[in-house]
Amino acid sequence: MELNALTIHDAHDALRRGEVSSVELTRAVLNRIEAVDGRVRAYLRTTPEQALADAAAADRRRAAGEDHPLLGIPLAIKDVLSTAGVETTCGSRILEGFVPPYDATVVARLRRVGAVLLGKTNTDEFAMGSSTENSGYFTTHNPWDLERVPGGSSGGSAAAVAADECLGALGSDTGGSVRQPAALCGVAGLKPTYGRVSRYGLVAFASSLDQVGPLGKDVTDCALLLGAIAGHDPRDATSADVPVPDYLAALRPDVAGMRLGVAREYLSNGMQPEVTEAVRAALDVLVGLGAEIVEVSLPHTEYALPTYYLIAPAEASANLARFDGVRYGLSHPEAPDIWEAYRRTRQEGFGAEVKRRIMLGTYALSAGYYDAYYLKAQKVRTLIKRDFDDALKRCNALVVPTTPATAFRIGEKTDDPLRMYLFDVFTLPLNLAGLCGISVPCGFAEGLPIGLQVLGGAYDEATILRVAYAYEQATDWHRRTPPV
Ligand code: GLN
Repeated sequence: MELNALTIHDAHDALRRGEVSSVELTRAVLNRIEAVDGRVRAYLRTTPEQALADAAAADRRRAAGEDHPLLGIPLAIKDVLSTAGVETTCGSRILEGFVPPYDATVVARLRRVGAVLLGKTNTDEFAMGSSTENSGYFTTHNPWDLERVPGGSSGGSAAAVAADECLGALGSDTGGSVRQPAALCGVAGLKPTYGRVSRYGLVAFASSLDQVGPLGKDVTDCALLLGAIAGHDPRDATSADVPVPDYLAALRPDVAGMRLGVAREYLSNGMQPEVTEAVRAALDVLVGLGAEIVEVSLPHTEYALPTYYLIAPAEASANLARFDGVRYGLSHPEAPDIWEAYRRTRQEGFGAEVKRRIMLGTYALSAGYYDAYYLKAQKVRTLIKRDFDDALKRCNALVVPTTPATAFRIGEKTDDPLRMYLFDVFTLPLNLAGLCGISVPCGFAEGLPIGLQVLGGAYDEATILRVAYAYEQATDWHRRTPPV
């Protein structure tokens, strides 16, 4: 097998046995990027010299007796995460040329254990989108079919993992942006519980929903990455001081005695029939592995989308106020006055979707509308959270589809924001509830991957990893490779 196609855990074994060096591994990945990224366009920018220097440093650390599952492993980082000395744009023109002076905590944690950072992956602008088509730079292509979207907003990270242009990656998930592109690209992607992973240095989209999450070629790799980035951070007041278990130890090839909930509302009409079939077949596999399936209901599911599209834009409108041409990136100092400078910067710097969200959010927060929209949305959010709490009293985890359909064609939904928003109906509710979820491949329809979502309770990543791992070990969807 090509070195760049290894999983993190296989690469770690090879590094530990001295069969390969991190420099060789990193070269193989950089060559792969060189060969395919002109077509996939997963990366906004790569940092090859830095990566090779990091790899050489990792080889020295290993020679000195150090070991860590990520030591010397080449990884990709979504461009919404701050990287010291490396341009960070959030896929937006407004941040073009912005070089942060500090690392996000998750990036610092990866560096500390010796991971090799390859570069920054494409994203919808400020992570607002479901396809990477809202990137201010270009659209990423799905490695399974270059005419189709990779999903979003972490589409660059998912495509890079699927096309073997990195061994693993970080993304961010506000309403599905790790799980949804993972599903569309046929890789594993995990959204941790809100508070599990530090948001320090993650450029804020919707602060009460955002979480950083790993994408990997399999569940074991997600477990390794999560273990490295999780844990309390005094720099993020919303990061929880909850012990981080050994996620690898949680991976067992069975689900004996576990109760898995199937939410009625997630197997609705209007879904692509192959997706429904694949999820039902996956449930049979889990039953074969010892699980008991219980039917549960999440009655407020239909309100999740409108609730999300009040809360997320409201928070975004506040968070994005800082991009004013004074502090970061794009600037118009020649404007006659400060107001005109703001106006020009934001008009040129933000794309259509970001402007739409700022307008929606500002409206929802305005005096006179606040109670009717924002406050109401917060109340409904509580009902959605209660649905999950009630359902999870009856089972250990929920098993549902990740998306209603497989990857759509580039351009297919760009003129219809509502249809684009609807693609995330099965991922958004979890963020509103603040809980954890993972998507793993569970089949294919006409050559395009289908994702299975396992949703769990607060800080119960170990359980969803175990269910996903057991399923993965019993199937071989994760071993298929895209034609690119
Ligand atoms: N697609 C959703 C949105 O546009 C979710 C994006 C995300 O999770 N970052 O808001």
